[in-house]
Amino acid sequence: MKALLKKDNTYGNMELVEIEEPVINDDQVKIKVEYSGICGSDIHSYKGEYKNLRPPVVLGHEFSGVVVEVGKNVKGIKVGDRVTSETTFYICGECDYCKSGDYNLCPNRKGIGTQVNGSFAEYVVARKESVHVLPDNVDLLSASITEALACAAHAVLEKTDVELSDVVLVFGPGPIGLLTAQVAKARGGYVILAGLTKDEERLKVADRLGIDRTVNIEREDLEQVVKSVTAGYGVDKVFECSGAVGALNSGISLLRKKGTIVQVGIFSKAYNEVDLEKIVQKEICYIGSRSQKPSSWKLALYLLETGKVNAKAIISDMFDLSEWFRGFEKVMKGEGLKVVLKP
Ligand SMILES: [Zn+2]
Ligand SMILES: [Zn+2]
Repeated sequence: MKALLKKDNTYGNMELVEIEEPVINDDQVKIKVEYSGICGSDIHSYKGEYKNLRPPVVLGHEFSGVVVEVGKNVKGIKVGDRVTSETTFYICGECDYCKSGDYNLCPNRKGIGTQVNGSFAEYVVARKESVHVLPDNVDLLSASITEALACAAHAVLEKTDVELSDVVLVFGPGPIGLLTAQVAKARGGYVILAGLTKDEERLKVADRLGIDRTVNIEREDLEQVVKSVTAGYGVDKVFECSGAVGALNSGISLLRKKGTIVQVGIFSKAYNEVDLEKIVQKEICYIGSRSQKPSSWKLALYLLETGKVNAKAIISDMFDLSEWFRGFEKVMKGEGLKVVLKP
């Protein structure tokens, strides 16, 4: 079968190659990949910057497809089912995090498309516990977004919660920011989404999705916008989805006292200049949100099934797997939104 193989940890060195079709064991499911989205972390992997990558490996971890084979211990999943799968491929099952279902934190976890072969290929293998059969009304294209939506659901609904009366500020209108804004909106919050001039098209998508207020911070004074809708107090919750230190500091100053910031975006370096003084003085709760876990997938599929989140709206481009480089190039240039590859 054709597969997009990342050969080593240097920049690039990725190629569409012919490899053997994967073979499943008794506890696994073989899936014919229908759609597989390009994630920001795939770009880091492509550039050789992703520390957890174990090349040579086929990339791709956000996908949907159809089951073509199931192992003999697999129950509730059959050939022909339309599915998506969590990225977790292996967990130790013995650490404290595994025992509480926090598989995203298991130190021995192995993920699809990073440590084992992923979904930029005709077929991918998932462990039975990770596979989710799609609700009838969720199409395969929308379902390819489930992983990203699960990350947003984890941040908005599990690491904190949004209440009806909350004013929520989201930084970064990329796919995760747009999904985060939609989940916060579904929860009843008043949602402000902040971006830059290069994000104009993305902010327009947010407007169409019914996000209450979009702000290009290079053209408009975000502080004035926040003051006017919060009677000068500041927002109740910030979701930092851009990974920009400036956005975090802006969030710290625009947050009301006792407010909550959830950090979703990854910073380009580990140590950064952050206004820690204000975190103390305003009694700010600063929370990290990493990836997703099984409970987040249930929430994500519920949000898709009930139409509370429009996943298709954030899919901007689709390329055949053979044209993978055009897709990667688009994401690297920051053009479009979610780019999907079709094997
Ligand atoms: Zn991802
Ligand atoms: Zn574990």
